[in-house]
This record gives sequence, C-alpha cells and structure tokens, in this order.
Amino acid sequence: MFRILRLHSLACCCAVGIFTLAVAMGRAQDSQTPSTAASAAPKLPELRVFDPSLVDASVDPCDNFYQFSCKRWLQRNPLPADQTSYSRFTELEELNRLHLKHILEEISANSGTRTSNEQKIGDEYASCMDVAAINEKGIAPLQPELDRIASLKNKTELPGLLAHLHSIGVNAFFEMGSSPDFADAASVIASYGAGGLGLPERDYYTRTDAKSVEQRHQYVAHVEKIFELAGEPSAKAAKDAQTVLQIETRLANASLTVTEQRDPQNLNHPSTVAALDKDLTHFNLAAYASADHSPTSGKINDLEPKFFTGFNDVIGDTSLNQVKTYLRWHLLHAFASTSLPEAFDKETWNFYAHILNGAQEEQARWKRCTDRVDGELGEALGQVYVARYFLPAEKQRTLAMTLSIEQAMEKDIDSLDWMSPETKLRAKEKLHGVMNKIGYPDKWRDYSTLVIVRGDALGNRIRADEFDRARDLAKIGKPVDKGEWDMTPPTVNAYYDPQQNNVNFPAGILQPPFFSGKEDDAANYGDMGGTIGHELTHGFDDEGRQFDATGNLKDWWTKDDEMKFNDRADCMVHQYDAIESVPGVHLNGKLTLGENLADLGGLRLAWIAWQEKAQAAHLDMTAKTDGYTPEQRFWIAYAQQWCTQTRPESLRAAALTDPHAPDEYRANAILQDLPEFAKSFSCKQPQKMVSAKPCRIW
Ligand SMILES: [Zn+2]
Repeated sequence: MFRILRLHSLACCCAVGIFTLAVAMGRAQDSQTPSTAASAAPKLPELRVFDPSLVDASVDPCDNFYQFSCKRWLQRNPLPADQTSYSRFTELEELNRLHLKHILEEISANSGTRTSNEQKIGDEYASCMDVAAINEKGIAPLQPELDRIASLKNKTELPGLLAHLHSIGVNAFFEMGSSPDFADAASVIASYGAGGLGLPERDYYTRTDAKSVEQRHQYVAHVEKIFELAGEPSAKAAKDAQTVLQIETRLANASLTVTEQRDPQNLNHPSTVAALDKDLTHFNLAAYASADHSPTSGKINDLEPKFFTGFNDVIGDTSLNQVKTYLRWHLLHAFASTSLPEAFDKETWNFYAHILNGAQEEQARWKRCTDRVDGELGEALGQVYVARYFLPAEKQRTLAMTLSIEQAMEKDIDSLDWMSPETKLRAKEKLHGVMNKIGYPDKWRDYSTLVIVRGDALGNRIRADEFDRARDLAKIGKPVDKGEWDMTPPTVNAYYDPQQNNVNFPAGILQPPFFSGKEDDAANYGDMGGTIGHELTHGFDDEGRQFDATGNLKDWWTKDDEMKFNDRADCMVHQYDAIESVPGVHLNGKLTLGENLADLGGLRLAWIAWQEKAQAAHLDMTAKTDGYTPEQRFWIAYAQQWCTQTRPESLRAAALTDPHAPDEYRANAILQDLPEFAKSFSCKQPQKMVSAKPCRIW
C-alpha cells in the first residue's frame, strides 16, 4: 500500500513517519474482541508546548540541555511495551489515534443513512477489526493470487504477472510509479526504481558484523515460518526461504545505499521504455508497461540503471520455480498484517517490530486498524478529523508564523558573509517561490470509485491498492498537481517537497505539545517555529539546494559558493560522524546531513523571526514566567519536542538507515552550534553545550 518510490523520499520530513512505519512493520494483532460500539468522545490529557514540570533544574543546562529539559518527562514516561520508541510525537500520535478511533467507531456503528465516504471508512474499520471472520477464512481469500503465481508457465509471462502484483501492492523485484520530471518539474513521467527487498534496506544484506549476520538468519527463519503458515511442508519452506534470501541479496547488491540515494544526481537518468527494454535481455519491459496500463512511449526516468542490470541477471539465471517462490513470499508479506489470520500478523510483528526494533508487546489491533484506514482512505477520514479537531484560527496563526519565518530567511540570506550577490539573488527567488500548505488539502481526494465491502478485509485491501495504483499511473503525462498532499491530515509530521518547492504542515502536528493557541510566541516559535524553519531550510540543504525555484534539478550556484557551502556542510558531517549513538555504532554524518542542516538553519530562522516580533511588541526579555525568561523558554520548548525513549535495537536500526539523527542529538548537537543559546543560559567554553568550533551554514 505504501508504494513509495525512492524518488519520493527526497521530499523530507521532520520526523520518522510512525503511522507509515507501523503498517510497514506489520505489527501483530491483539486478542481483543472486535468492538464496533460507539464510545464516548475520549477525554485526553492536556499537553503543553513549554512545560516547566518536565524540567529537572538539578541538571546543569550547560552540561546536558536535553536532560535538563526532558528528565522529568523521561521519568514519567517509561517506554510502553508495544512501542519501539516513545516520544512527544508518539504522545500526540496516540492522542490523534484516539480521536480517529472515536470517529471510526461512531461511523462503523451507524446503521442509518451514511455518506459514501462514511460507508467506506466505517466498513473498512469494521472489516479490519473483525479478527474472527479473518481467522475463519484463513488463506482462502488470497488463493486466487497464489494460483496466479503457481500457473506462471514461463518467464515470458512474468511481465504481465509482475504488473498485476504491483497493482495490488506487492513490492516484488522493482518499483514503478509516477513522479515529476527532474528536468521539468511541472510534468509527470514514469519512474522505474530499485525494490523487491524484504529487509528494511540494502545494507541489511551486505553488512558482515555479527549482529547483521544474526539478523539475516532470523530473517530466513521468518520467511520460512510464513511459508509454513501458508501450508508448505517445513523442509520445502526452509529451502524456499534460502531462495528468497539469495535473490534479494543479489537485488540488494545492485541497489544504491541509503546515503547514495540522497543525492538526486544519482537518481537522474532520463530514458525510454524502449531503451531500457533493449538492455533487459531477459525481461520484456514494454510488455510490462502495457500490462500495467502505463505509457510505453515517451520519457521515463531509470532511477538506478545498475539495479536494472542486476535485476536482468537475476531473471536470466534464476529458475522459473525460484522466481515463483520469491513472488509467493512477497505476496504473503504484503498482506500479512491485518488482512490474513492472526498467526501471520504475529509472526510478522515478531520479526519486524520485536527482533529488528525491540518492541516487547504487540500493538492493539484498533491502533493498527486506525492506521490502515488512514493509509487507505486518509483524506476521507481526514476530512472528518479536520472538521472536528482543527480550528480555522490555528490555520491562520500557523500561516502567520510561516510568513514571518520566510521573511527571516530573506534577511538571513542577505546577511550571509560567504555567499555572492548572484547566488543570493537566486536563493531569494527560490524562497519567494515557496508555496505554504497548512492543515489539509483545498480539494479532497475523490474515493467514489473505490469499493469497500464490510467483512472482506483482504478484498478491500486489494481494491484500495488497485485504486491507489490506478490513481498514481493516471498522473503520468499530465501536469503536476501541487495541491495534492503526501501526508494525511491527522499525521504528526511535516515535509518539504523539493520538486514542488512547497512546505506542508498537516493538521495533526499543529497541536500541543508542538503548537498551542493558548501559549505565547516564545513557546510556539521555539517549537513549531523551529519545525517550520526546518522544512523551509530543506529547500536549501545539501539535497534541496540542487533544485531551483520551480522544482527543476538545475544548478543555480556559482562554483565558488558551492565550494563554500560544501565546506560549511562538512563541519556538520564531522560533528555527527563523531557521535556514537549505541556502543559500536556511530551516526552517519552524510546520511543525516540534510536533516541536521535543516534543524540548525530552521531553529536560527525561528529565533530571528521571534526576536523581531518580540522587539516590535516591546516584550520584556527579563520578565520570568515559571522561573524562566522568554529566551530561555524558547530554547526549552525547542528541546522538549525531542524528549524520547528508544529501545537500543531501534536506535541501532535508525543509526544505520534513518536520515534523522536520534532525538537527543537533535536537541543537544544543534544547540551547541548556536551562540544565542549559550548566551541565554550563560554557558561558556569548555562546557559541553558550547562547541569550540560551532557550525554555521544558514
Ligand atoms: Zn526534515
């Protein structure tokens, strides 16, 4: 369902998308009785943006500001057994989920007149919650798809089968979807990219340390168990699991690393189906495109040419039976969570959430079903959510903050001593081109042709995927619609899209503890202001700066300015490379560079914007509230958004794959680089919170 082409990962966000992650990890279900009875509106705890009760004043703020700001939160919030990490983002996500649960329970219990959208979200939630019905059907609903794979007679038929599997959300061999043209961001073309892995990313297959070797053994055991659950005798299941690992390892070796994928130049290879088809001697790409109902002529982007060479070799020298085994695994894997019987769910949770990320307990089924409806029908659910929980005044206040931060960026660009006037002019052009999207889409998605049947969890999932796929492919050859959103309204996250040059803040994040209409600017600018600045700065980080004001991948920098930018960015690469987040695992300064640049630049912009606003209002900077000056509260509000508990397994996985640094460092490392912070708390070298060589880019 979450068919995200690598290209889309260029659009970057302020936090790991937990909603998406939850579904991708396929967490297992609990044994709760399905409940469709409407409950009372949930009474929720009140969260604050600046919360003095979380501060532990016995910690020296100049020694460890994260501990100073978050220690009491950490004491109060032990990691729940069903979570792999628990943060202020999770806190709000859990509250949002309760809101969504209330909406879904109410609508699914309504037997009266319903709108078309209400029928869909209500019946899909009820179908997902009906574990007894899912268990009773067993694997039967997937049998037609298993038969389809079994009946593959020769490799010539593979393109047609693969196009079908892709249309129902099965991530086998490669990914194909629509995306804006790198050279002309206003038009949409087809993009072909690497895919087909069951482990989180390619290096899980290539690392040779003991832990990684052990995880691969555990992965093979997991695949074997899933085959057994599907009815294979254990000896055959064991052999088949080895086949899956062999094929995936070859695909992984041909794929780019997560760090290499961050450079758009590595992903820009204009081509055509005919040209790529010529290179693929064992796979008829034209037949694939035509079965997929995607264009067979016109420009495409071959995101990773090396991958397709590797894919061609795999198809060439793998037996038909082995190809079928590999496809069968990916089919079962795609539907294991919330569509197949509990045993599939449990096994999938065990490997992805427990073994890889350290979760101790399965997440409640209602949470996973809420996430599922959000993933499949996010704008139908989001429309109700926004009407109930998002006030127009909040949209206005966020917009005003965003505009003030954009003005701060203009002044900041003017004041840079390292950038030439020519590049400054281009940078300001890009800044003026940024589109601000706040809360929810102006035009809601139309789900009228999607059929959702109560009691048919697996069928609904297939139809939702087909609907999504058809919608995606229909965009090819048409102008880009910049009004569309990549995140649903309840999502607790935000993103910048470099090919559309827009910043996007879903309604879900515009609430306490990140933003509050009841709190003052010091708190809101320190927290949400920093996030707004973060997304804006993504347009000017090591990746975003390669795109121009219209979203085209086009160099607008003088060579000299580019060199100076890279020198300054290297300062941050070294700063984060030096951090050992779990014993033996250092952060990857290059992988996290874009996020770190956005954190540092974004917080400075929020500070500048807030200072100007405070000065204009003659705010008394010496007046203390809750024991702290406005400036101190600005920094505490910033640090408190990062209070987080994380399991060591999850920290390890994140250090290897996540472009975001762990939250503790998103607070401390950034603040060490800001002399304005040091001044507010009278910190001085050699105290830890003051860097001897602070990094400064924007
Ligand atoms: Zn980001």
